[in-house]
Amino acid sequence: MVTDDAGIQFRMLNRSKGPAVWSPRAQCDRALYAQRVRQACEDQSNLDLRQGMGMRVEIKNGRVGGVYTESGRLIAARTVILTAGTFLNGVIHVGEVQYSAGRAGEFAAKGITECLVELGFESGRMKTGTPPRVDGNTIDFSKTVIQPGDDNPVPFSYRHDKLEVEQLPCHLTYTNKTTHNVLEKGFDRSPMFTDRIKGVGPRYCPSIEDKIHRFADRDRHQIFLEPEGRNTTEYYVNGFSTSLPEEVQLEGIRTIAGLENVQVTRFGYAVEYDYFPPTQLYPNLETKRVEHLFFAGQINGTTGYEEAACQGFMAGVNAVLKMRGEAPFVLGRTEAYVGVLIDDLVSKGTLEPYRMFTSRAEHRLILRQDNADLRLMDYGHRFGLIDRQDHKKLCEKRERIQESLAQLQQEKVAPEDVNPALERIGSSPLLEKESLYNLLKRPEVRLSDLKGLRHLNILEQWGDQLWRSVREQVEIEIKYEGFIRRQKEQAERVLRLDSKPIPKGFDYAAIGALSAEAREKLGKIQPQTIGQATRISGVSPADVSVLLIHLGRPVAHDVSRETWLAEGA
Ligand SMILES: Cc1cc2nc3c(=O)[nH]c(=O)nc-3n(C[C@H](O)[C@H](O)[C@H](O)COP(=O)(O)OP(=O)(O)OC[C@H]3O[C@@H](n4cnc5c(N)ncnc54)[C@H](O)[C@@H]3O)c2cc1C
Repeated sequence: MVTDDAGIQFRMLNRSKGPAVWSPRAQCDRALYAQRVRQACEDQSNLDLRQGMGMRVEIKNGRVGGVYTESGRLIAARTVILTAGTFLNGVIHVGEVQYSAGRAGEFAAKGITECLVELGFESGRMKTGTPPRVDGNTIDFSKTVIQPGDDNPVPFSYRHDKLEVEQLPCHLTYTNKTTHNVLEKGFDRSPMFTDRIKGVGPRYCPSIEDKIHRFADRDRHQIFLEPEGRNTTEYYVNGFSTSLPEEVQLEGIRTIAGLENVQVTRFGYAVEYDYFPPTQLYPNLETKRVEHLFFAGQINGTTGYEEAACQGFMAGVNAVLKMRGEAPFVLGRTEAYVGVLIDDLVSKGTLEPYRMFTSRAEHRLILRQDNADLRLMDYGHRFGLIDRQDHKKLCEKRERIQESLAQLQQEKVAPEDVNPALERIGSSPLLEKESLYNLLKRPEVRLSDLKGLRHLNILEQWGDQLWRSVREQVEIEIKYEGFIRRQKEQAERVLRLDSKPIPKGFDYAAIGALSAEAREKLGKIQPQTIGQATRISGVSPADVSVLLIHLGRPVAHDVSRETWLAEGA
């Protein structure tokens, strides 16, 4: 909701590819976004806000009791969620300079890591970086390529039918050979190449020095100039993340077309911070070591806004369920990217900052951005986040999709009814009657091409808005029917394994038939289901069969090769 209000540019990425990988991207006005989120928190009933630097977690009898602030005050709590981001023992690096900070201009958080390590938690070190910010008044946009937002932007929220905001353009430019030569001159003073940074950085969002080093054959790299907001002239130089010395950054950035006279308002930097390997968590994001203590966000080894936000949401829901004594809320890999992300973290862990890519999901044809409402809104309704009216709309949409699919299968059209439309779009004419369902299987035929056909009257009568959202689902269901059916079958097999629980505290060490590696990994991660066990690296199908026998479960076809392949094992 806030993104739709505070957005300055909206684009659907990967539109030239299949719907499984379409990704909505929004850029927000930074200040407005922060203000709106704060306002939403302040307006939220039953939510009290307190501020302070958390220094230590209070633990009593293996359970969390609250957090001590820097003044020694205890903020008592029955449940605590730690979301410390890049702040735990954060160190900023710029060239040879390094200083303690969680983010530019903000204190690092001390004490929490040490307190948790004393309790037996394992911690590690990671790093991330950011590009310089520049003054837009000093950019020569005539030397760049304009990148406007989408003409008909799709809102982020399913509650919004359309976006009313005026979009701002971004601009594309490139580094060049001279830029690379200038930056390379500073490599001997870069914290990245002089071993001063020990933490592992994000492989898929590399710094500009990383890109020049790793892809030495490339003559140029893309640079997107993105406005920071509507009421500021500051620009974010996306693609130029760097921790090189400030003077090298300045000389390098000024070799880029359009940025020859640019004024840097803030230099890029890298930040190194503590994280806690997430295999120390249960799938509800509660720590295994301390009951009622949850971790969410970058502290778990992820990087990225969405990655952090979805974990915060899941930890929040689960913290409440825990206090109410209700069962945890765990989304499956077949239900949502959130499920894939958390399952990857708690089952496999991560040695480098984890980003959620569509390629990590084995069922991505059913985890599309266009069907998120159909997949997840029932849960939202259950937890009181989706009101009755919105839920009713969802149920109506679901019914209409089924109704439409049935209708399209039944309705046969004669060549004389449909051939003029087919001719208009260059599709071969029908020679005999055919169902609309089969006709729509042709990649080039869209329902909108058949508008006005009397067979569709019954579907078009619902009003534009509902028909539009139903039409999209119907078309995808028909065009990708075979693939979707296969993925749903695979998903059901995975669900079967995920519904087979392993008792808490199960003694893997006592099962001699398991491989040594499986015994060690299973003992450490303590999977909660057979499905989760299958996804732990080093646990083979033979180990899972042994487990199933010990748990008194039939082995036949449960751990089929297909399931393993589908799981990427
Ligand atoms: C410089 C930089 C640029 C980035 N750019 C992008 C980007 O363009 N796109 C993207 O997707 N991701 C980006 N990221 C990553 C993204 O910001 C993080 O992954 C995400 O914000 C993590 O969310 P979080 O809630 O875990 O932590 P954060 O957003 O870091 O929030 C942590 C909060 O906890 C507070 N805090 C920490 N410790 C304590 C304590 N002990 N007591 C009290 N309060 C505490 C901090 O003050 C802070 O407000 C960037 C990160 C950095 C550092």
